Amino acid sequence: MSDERCKKELWPGWHTYQCENKAKRDGWCGIHHPDAVAKRRAKSDAKYKAQREDFVATQAVAARDRERLAHYPKLVESLRPLAEQDCESWGCDIANESHLCPPTGARTVLTEAAAIEKRKGGRDG
Ligand SMILES: [Zn+2]
Ligand SMILES: [Zn+2]
Repeated sequence: MSDERCKKELWPGWHTYQCENKAKRDGWCGIHHPDAVAKRRAKSDAKYKAQREDFVATQAVAARDRERLAHYPKLVESLRPLAEQDCESWGCDIANESHLCPPTGARTVLTEAAAIEKRKGGRDG
């Protein structure tokens, strides 16, 4: 009863053979029915689209980082003495990253700069 088999032809190597699954609908098996194929394709398209969006978002963060980083060195250099002064007057334990100074002002910018440097380092390997 070969006419009950799925009509899909497969190319596993250099010769074709007919799909050995039983035809369920319209002469196709569940896997090879055009509806099922289209459904799988839509699913993988959606997955690709999500991956693509992730990638674009990551690139956007990277671009923003690069842009900000371009302005940072001078800013960081001018803020570092201020931050150190703050920490000194508040009696922070800088070696242990234990701060008593308020989480605003110069140190915030330095912390952010360090975070960006870290992300950059991660990307570059
Ligand atoms: Zn089939
Ligand atoms: Zn501090």
